[in-house]
Amino acid sequence: MTLLHPPRPLHSRFVDHVLVLNASFEPLNVCSVRRAHVLLHKRKAELLETLERPLRSAAGSHPWPLVIRLLDYVRVPRSSSRKISRRALFARDGWRCVYCGTAAGRMTLDHVVPRSKGGRSEWDNVVTACAPCNLRKGDRPLETTGMTMRIPPRPPQPVLFIRLAAPTVPQSWKPYLGEGALGALAAQVAAA
Ligand SMILES: [Zn+2]
Repeated sequence: MTLLHPPRPLHSRFVDHVLVLNASFEPLNVCSVRRAHVLLHKRKAELLETLERPLRSAAGSHPWPLVIRLLDYVRVPRSSSRKISRRALFARDGWRCVYCGTAAGRMTLDHVVPRSKGGRSEWDNVVTACAPCNLRKGDRPLETTGMTMRIPPRPPQPVLFIRLAAPTVPQSWKPYLGEGALGALAAQVAAA
């Protein structure tokens, strides 16, 4: 089988993004069309959804994968062990200040337990804060400030990383991302 580089996207930005599901149907990550073809060719994955338009090359016509599923279950890294990043933290908090709820103005990252007091740069200690709240809180522990958090910080759901990898989510992915019956099924399988 010839491995194909997809042509420049013609009609959308997400055309080179393939959603990879675990054997349990849980969303795992996002890969390129090329990588998906390798997994399919090596029979490590099966094809679940394709673009109507096939991928054509001199060597022939191939399905254009949109969603694939790994045939062997892979252990999912716990979200808490994933590397913390500004982008993922802002996305987790919905680009809103966790203290006052504003989405206006410049957002910053705040250590709930300040670094100077031994607070670590981990998912449960870093939050999105607007610049005024960050300034107001300063280097003090939260309980001494009279400020409260709207949502306690936690490691993000795995789906967040998929959404960050593919900012435009194709329609055909949605049922697999917990937005429909298949998502509910995956959740049940995962919980079993
Ligand atoms: Zn604020």
